[in-house]
Amino acid sequence: MRLNCLSCGHKVELDNAYDEFEGPVKCLCGTMLEIRTKEGLLKAIKVMDPQTPRPSQPPGMPGAAA
Ligand SMILES: [Zn+2]
Repeated sequence: MRLNCLSCGHKVELDNAYDEFEGPVKCLCGTMLEIRTKEGLLKAIKVMDPQTPRPSQPPGMPGAAA
């Protein structure tokens, strides 16, 4: 099965393990697609919001470590 990336249009190849699947798939372009498949058919697809929880770190001071 293939699905088109909503972001870049790349055809993402999915094997049979994805015939019954619900969850995220990552495209080559880095976009996370949330898909739902059933019996080898794509039922739903959407782009997941990029949620990269990064704790805001203050800029380091190079060379400050003594
Ligand atoms: Zn893509």
